[in-house]
Amino acid sequence: MARYTGASCKKCRKLETKLFLKGTKCYTACTMERRASKQLRPQHKGFRSKKSEYSFRLAEKQRARLMSGMTEQPFRNLFARAEKATGQTGEAFLRFLETRLDNVVRRLGFAVSLKTARQLVRHGHIKVNDRTVSIPSYQLKPGDKIAVISKLSGVPVVKQGIEETEKRSMRPSFLEYDASSKTGRLLRWPDRGEMSYPVKEQMIVEFYSK
Ligand code: SF4
Repeated sequence: MARYTGASCKKCRKLETKLFLKGTKCYTACTMERRASKQLRPQHKGFRSKKSEYSFRLAEKQRARLMSGMTEQPFRNLFARAEKATGQTGEAFLRFLETRLDNVVRRLGFAVSLKTARQLVRHGHIKVNDRTVSIPSYQLKPGDKIAVISKLSGVPVVKQGIEETEKRSMRPSFLEYDASSKTGRLLRWPDRGEMSYPVKEQMIVEFYSK
């Protein structure tokens, strides 16, 4: 499946959920919130067909997939991996999504959005355990050390990410951050409440188990 290259905000509007795809703008000038407050679009009062169970599950799966920035096949493959993991499949799946390298780079504050985090990784600007890793889907495990290469630690895109994260106290407690060396560490697997995916994982499990 080809990657969607259209307007990010359209995806949020379609799923009626803030997917946080545009970094700082999502907190300061969210298009969806602006539209809602100004009521630029009058609510449609006409006939609407009742949604099926399937469409609810599909929407939940799409929310998680779009938030992770993944295309369908890798997303499905990751789910298949979660099915083989110990514990509940839904929670294991979200844990895998949460501890992908691109997501941890974002949550540490090295980037304001997942898209920027992915670019930093792809361009070889991120090190894991002192070795350059350029695969955004790289799966981290507790104890791994994550760092921005030193020549990049002062550039505006990284500085902005760190400032925004600190301003909003967004760094979760399963990550440790050392401001002086601009390095982070995955201390442990995240608990469900600490994960950045506000979705009903059971519905995703049901979607793929159909
Ligand atoms: Fe979604 Fe961000 Fe656009 Fe708001 S600003 S609609 S959260 S992508």
